[in-house]
Amino acid sequence: MKLKLKNQVAVVTGSSTGIGAACAIGLAQEGVKVVINYHSSKEEAEDVVKKIKGAGGSAIAVKADVSDEKDIKKLFKACLKEYGHLDILVANAGIQSDSSFTTMTLKEWNKVIGINLTGQFLACREAAKIFRKQGVHDRSRAAGKIICMSSVHDEIPWAGHVNYATAKGGIKMMMESMAQELAPDKIRVNAISPGAIKTDINEDAWDTPEALEKLLTLVPYGRIGQGEDIANVCAFLCSDAADYVTGATLYVDGGMMLYPGFSDNG
Ligand code: NAD
Repeated sequence: MKLKLKNQVAVVTGSSTGIGAACAIGLAQEGVKVVINYHSSKEEAEDVVKKIKGAGGSAIAVKADVSDEKDIKKLFKACLKEYGHLDILVANAGIQSDSSFTTMTLKEWNKVIGINLTGQFLACREAAKIFRKQGVHDRSRAAGKIICMSSVHDEIPWAGHVNYATAKGGIKMMMESMAQELAPDKIRVNAISPGAIKTDINEDAWDTPEALEKLLTLVPYGRIGQGEDIANVCAFLCSDAADYVTGATLYVDGGMMLYPGFSDNG
């Protein structure tokens, strides 16, 4: 299968680390020019840019807080200034700010909803406006492709993380409603819902052998995921090989959604 993504342009939010960095690098390996969005660590973003350029690709780093409307406008402006068009948005940036429900402060609630849900809304809206204006072109069968980075917690409730699970549940309905509204414009919108992927966000779930063993009881496939597992699916969903896929959520989770507690080994 050929993905034929060469010379397309992508904005990947929160791509200085983790899943975002992996998706940006994966797309760049397919010939996509990538805007690496970062929030605080310019150095990490420049490292990703260097890696992409070192492998013969093209990338720029742009600072923007995804929860800030003005920043998001600047981010897409910078993309169009550098590359002239936009084909792909990977709305990936996200945080956790965990607390038991009764002690969760309004600040913790608003921060997670602001970045994980409103941040995706702002980025998706900006990208959709650009895709609509561009219309269908000769780089792809779609006018534009949006990937929302969700989580298995758009389905699995998560005590102690109510703000996070609420944001991810919201992304599911936002993604499906956007997909329905934007399909006539030939804009495809899908979500990837990762299970446990080894990144900074969940370090305490894998950084000791005991923690990892406990985590793996939730993963029938028996290993923790890597950024590349998500990046591969992301590149596929962005390509014309997935041209008839819109409004779908792809769970990339080693079987975490299969209720492993009910298996004979559980
Ligand atoms: P990560 O912490 O490495 O990545 C999150 C990125 O978002 C970081 O680069 C961070 O700088 C950026 N970010 C945070 N606030 C931002 C803001 N206001 N503006 C712009 N960028 C901001 O963790 P990750 O695991 O790579 O997470 C990426 C996405 O994947 C998140 O949406 C997360 O919810 C989702 N996810 C991760 C897992 C997992 O197991 N790692 C599982 C399910 C879903």
